[in-house]
Amino acid sequence: MVDADTATAYLALGSNLEDPPRQIRRAIQAIRRLPGTRVVADSGLYSSKPLVPPSGAIAQADYYNAVVVVKTSLDPYDLLARLQQIETDQGRVRTRHWGPRTIDLDMLMFDDLCLDDPRLTLPHPGIAQREFVLYPLHRIDDSLEIPGRGMLSELIRNCSENGLQYLGAIESDEA
Ligand code: ATP
Ligand code: CA
Ligand code: CA
Repeated sequence: MVDADTATAYLALGSNLEDPPRQIRRAIQAIRRLPGTRVVADSGLYSSKPLVPPSGAIAQADYYNAVVVVKTSLDPYDLLARLQQIETDQGRVRTRHWGPRTIDLDMLMFDDLCLDDPRLTLPHPGIAQREFVLYPLHRIDDSLEIPGRGMLSELIRNCSENGLQYLGAIESDEA
């Protein structure tokens, strides 16, 4: 059944502090509780190497990552604000760009919306280069098209796994 008021959004989760797998599970639970929002698929859990900022590598632990798909009646800015609230609730402290964090929630896509707003850029500006979003997306849907960027299967061909590892299903976490 297609619901005209419901959008499909793809969300990327990342953590490398304070029991990262648990941070990912907690965030998914919080996303499940958002109004008008259902989690309809997830990629399972991955580990990845940290991004290196242009200023040079930061000594920090490997990341844990996942992608989830939601159906939501929230508008994209409302969804973003609620994701940022979940980050704050899980103790996210904004230090250095790409520095260590308890949880990072990025909106990868929201339907086929293309937005060029620094507050909310869609699709997410890093989507086409990042192995820790492309491979999890591919596990969810190998025929996905990224608005304005082309077919996921093509993007993946140009993106090495760079140490990415699939760790298995995300355990449910009765918080
Ligand atoms: P990156 O965006 O390169 O992955 P980051 O996740 O570490 O880096 P943050 O500090 O979490 O960056 O976010 C910086 C800002 O990015 C936020 O204040 C937010 O308004 C903005 N932003 C723009 N587009 C998006 C998006 N698609 N999803 C999440 N935040 C976004
Ligand atoms: Ca990010
Ligand atoms: Ca972010």
